[in-house]
Amino acid sequence: MSVGIVGGGQLGRMLALAAAPLGIECTVLDPADDACASVAANHLRAEFDDTAALARLSTECDAVTFEFENVPAEGLAAVNLPRPPASALAASQDRLTEKQLFERIGIATAPYRAVETLDELRDAVAEIGTPAVLKTRRLGYDGKGQARLADPSDTEDAWSTIGAAPAIIEGLVEFERELSIVAVRGAGGEMAFYPLTENVHRHGILRESRAPAAVDAAGAASLAQTARRYAQSLLDELDYVGVLALELFQHGPRLLANEFAPRVHNSGHWTIDAAPTSQFENHIRAVAGLPLGATEPAGECVMLNLIGGAPSTEQILAVPGAHLHLYGKQPRPGRKIGHVTLTATPGLTAEEAAERLRAAVETAAR
Ligand code: AMP
Repeated sequence: MSVGIVGGGQLGRMLALAAAPLGIECTVLDPADDACASVAANHLRAEFDDTAALARLSTECDAVTFEFENVPAEGLAAVNLPRPPASALAASQDRLTEKQLFERIGIATAPYRAVETLDELRDAVAEIGTPAVLKTRRLGYDGKGQARLADPSDTEDAWSTIGAAPAIIEGLVEFERELSIVAVRGAGGEMAFYPLTENVHRHGILRESRAPAAVDAAGAASLAQTARRYAQSLLDELDYVGVLALELFQHGPRLLANEFAPRVHNSGHWTIDAAPTSQFENHIRAVAGLPLGATEPAGECVMLNLIGGAPSTEQILAVPGAHLHLYGKQPRPGRKIGHVTLTATPGLTAEEAAERLRAAVETAAR
């Protein structure tokens, strides 16, 4: 059995590492000579819109998936039956179609309007009010392609910051915290859900995740139920096969969807060390048409992202319960180069272990 993966970054690397023990060989398609997945997979060097290379990946592998959201959706048309389907990728690539999809299937979001011109933006600001956030419809990620409007006088500046591109403006949600749910749907339509994860971002980049998210006894059941209902509706609506992540804002008892990623997700990296089956293995299982694995973790864990730099390996591994994952990427400011998951060990909780590393991780980050 073989799986082709469009994209050879850290997600492709962790997918290939999860596939190997199942006897599944992976080939990644990526233009970079130093694609970090190539330590664990065959490497087909080609651009993401090279339809001949995509067709070759499709012919040579039993199934094809992607780990990178900005794959041109038209390029995927050269692939026979990509998993997840190209329509899921297309829906997630445009913030407007994504929000419309959420609305259509009953997933709550912040109020939003589509805008194409400065005049339309002025009208939308008058309707939605401020504070608000303006986001380009396409090719935004990790907080890029966004501008905040504290009050209506910021309208012109925000419009030029995002480069006057087709955009949506959203009301700024005064969330208590950010959560996500990672879910998987198998080739036969069966589903499994990881518990809600709590995420902390800085400058639009995920810094830390905690799973399962702490929930007070009263709110726990309903938040988890709502998140599952949202994820299930999305998976079914998209006739999805594979892992999907849905990012959410919690505002009191409400969950508002921000966006979904049609792929394995940074907020699910903890599943490698703390869930019976990781998101990477479950994605490979789904794509390969195999039974899904159990998702419920035995205990709590904390995941710290290593961004732009990392403490020494010795320092990290000296903490009991620390599981280090370096991606083999050259450190650059703002670049995710690895993560550490902390799990409980006798006498030390996951949070206590994280507290021993947090300051060093932050000091090393650039
Ligand atoms: P995004 O690129 O949409 O994931 O946004 C990056 C980060 O900006 C999110 O993780 C939030 O922290 C913040 N953000 C985006 N949209 C909103 C919103 N409507 N209200 C409040 N915060 C937001």
